[in-house]
Amino acid sequence: MSLPRLEIDLEKISHNARTLVDRLAGHGIAVTGVTKATLGSPEIARAMLEGGVCDLGDARIENIEAMRLAHVQARMSLIRSPMLSQAKRVVMSADVSFNTEVDVVRRLSREACAMGRTHAVMLMVELGDLREGIMPADLLAVVSETLSLPNIVLKGIGTNLACRSGASPDDANMRILSELAASMEATFDISIETVSGGNSANLNWAFSGTDTGLVNDLRLGESILLGRETLYRNPIDGLHTDAISLVAEVIESKLKPTMPTGNLAQSAFGQCSVPINHGDIVQTILAIGIQDIDPHGLRPPDGTEILGCSSDHLITTSSAVDIVPIGTEMTFQLDYSALIRAMTSPFVTKSINSASQLDYQTPKIVERLSA
Ligand SMILES: *Cc1c(COP(=O)(O)O)cnc(C)c1O
Repeated sequence: MSLPRLEIDLEKISHNARTLVDRLAGHGIAVTGVTKATLGSPEIARAMLEGGVCDLGDARIENIEAMRLAHVQARMSLIRSPMLSQAKRVVMSADVSFNTEVDVVRRLSREACAMGRTHAVMLMVELGDLREGIMPADLLAVVSETLSLPNIVLKGIGTNLACRSGASPDDANMRILSELAASMEATFDISIETVSGGNSANLNWAFSGTDTGLVNDLRLGESILLGRETLYRNPIDGLHTDAISLVAEVIESKLKPTMPTGNLAQSAFGQCSVPINHGDIVQTILAIGIQDIDPHGLRPPDGTEILGCSSDHLITTSSAVDIVPIGTEMTFQLDYSALIRAMTSPFVTKSINSASQLDYQTPKIVERLSA
């Protein structure tokens, strides 16, 4: 099998999705499966749907288009505010988009009219993380404008926390979201279909036994793929944390000093930390690098430590002093940051382990779109 590769276990992904879907159903909350970390992999999208997620969400229209081309059957939401320059593609391929700017919703309306379609809009509200969102005080004005636009359906509101600043979802901010939804319903005499409380960082709040109010949707990516909540990255009970792992190949293994020699200046990636002298150690290099992974997001096998990384080389050492045979395969666990880079690297093969044992190379986006 080609190397390096991501080994993706679809049954584990389905199981993770199913477990979260079932647990949240007890709180009246449905799950939108977020595929953006997978470059819109149709196989992973289908595994999430198999696990019972009701919709799919992705931050990139290219990924939604790829899933459409692959005939993934689901309602799909663009969960990042559309670029004006992509408004037409958004109306063409996404059923729903998440919005924070009236100018964009107006353009979506124009494109939807031109195509004779309706497009559903979720309005995102800023509740403290200072990424995307309409300020709560401005929400009703934006709702009023949105309701007036032809071929646009207002589906609901949402918020996103713990992504830029680490502001955690809690009873206070979630109550504000429910109150905003209630005030929209009362002011405009409408019923709000979806109140989307957030992402994988909302799970601790949702499972805390608290009153989840009007929140009836969470958008989950990382927790389904990696089996962890994202505030403290603790494993979630009953979920697989190894549904996706990375395998790389050893291309050099030699006894070398720990201390570099010569006058030390910057390395390929800027300033280096000066190593501590441990004398000679066995240094083992794998054929993978910063182009393909975030080295800080890799967990090596027990007894192995990551010493450094450049564009194309990952340098490790192992507590076993023996030289590692060239060609040895080494398996790493990944965090979100390493995962998204590996998934989008054309140098990393995506190997899907399921009944059908399918092995595919990441298709180039341009090719997919012209397909
Ligand atoms: C990425 C993203 C999500 C999913 O986040 P996870 O931490 O992967 O669950 C949800 N909503 C929005 C708006 C996002 O950008």
